[in-house]
Amino acid sequence: MNISHIGVLCSGGDSPGMNCAIRAVVRTALFNNIQVTGIKRGYAGLLRGEFQAMNLSSVGNIIQRGGTILQTSRSPEFTKAEFRKKAVDILKAQKIDALIVIGGDGSFNGAMALWRELQFPVIGIPGTIDNDISNTEYTIGFDTAVQTAIEAVDRIRDTAHSHARTFLVEVMGRNSSSIALKVGVCTGAENVLLPNEEINHQKIVDDIKRGIARGKDSSIIIVAEGPVAGRSYEIQRVLKETYQMDTHVVILGHIQRGGSPASNDRFIASQMGNLAVEGLINKNFPSVTVVQNGKVLLTDLANCITKADHNFTEYQTLAQTLSI
Ligand code: ATP
Repeated sequence: MNISHIGVLCSGGDSPGMNCAIRAVVRTALFNNIQVTGIKRGYAGLLRGEFQAMNLSSVGNIIQRGGTILQTSRSPEFTKAEFRKKAVDILKAQKIDALIVIGGDGSFNGAMALWRELQFPVIGIPGTIDNDISNTEYTIGFDTAVQTAIEAVDRIRDTAHSHARTFLVEVMGRNSSSIALKVGVCTGAENVLLPNEEINHQKIVDDIKRGIARGKDSSIIIVAEGPVAGRSYEIQRVLKETYQMDTHVVILGHIQRGGSPASNDRFIASQMGNLAVEGLINKNFPSVTVVQNGKVLLTDLANCITKADHNFTEYQTLAQTLSI
């Protein structure tokens, strides 16, 4: 069967650069005389039949915009086989031959189920700020989220210096260490606390005191959020109650999800969107567009349905070594 009509949706958390991927999918498909339907609000919108015909101008002037023009969602229903069957019936009724899913590993599990259970052709494009999908070095949105966090920490450093204060800056990324480590190195943070790391409060206090002794007047500690956002408040409490050390907490939160995508996200998303459509044309599915050894290529979808924490602890050491 030749692919003549593609559906595209975003699922899970939004990330800057998703629009670049949608644009590349739509333009590549139309270039190859393939019809494209945008599916609004992820799998939930698919189940409600929220469709939008896409033409060249549907994706005009969006390359620089954060978020996703198709919007996104989480759909508990879609984790049940009966609803996936319903989804494929809806797609077939629209004469859609294949689906491109832009999202994280959860979304890819949904796509994998569509293929395994119903042999519906799917290709995934990794879109999440967390950079936590197995077998790809990169996920769309990571670079922008890191840059946003760096800019925020630079501002915090100004006030931290002026008042000689210590800040705990909590960054997004759930169980992934990637954002925290990169932001830590790039902002000269005194310490980076990884998502599931047992906190050594004594060491934090010793590091700060050593810095003060050699004339440092501010400290920035990057805290990876871990499973539940807000863990910085507990660290702050222990530092105060046990060590009489005052700290200030800033939780960057969803600020890292927004904003105009950085060049890396635009460039990789453009390549991935293009390759996803070519993959469908060449019947290379089920698969995912990934970055391996710096190159954008396709790999089997089964390789990308688990989380990976690129927990490069050497970067934690690097951050500490460079900020002694
Ligand atoms: P992010 O990590 O950026 O939030 P994600 O794609 O991992 O992105 P999830 O909330 O895990 O986000 O998944 C998005 C949606 O994918 C879910 O709401 C659900 O509809 C579908 N999904 C997740 N896991 C499965 C699964 N095992 N089987 C079928 N569908 C799934």
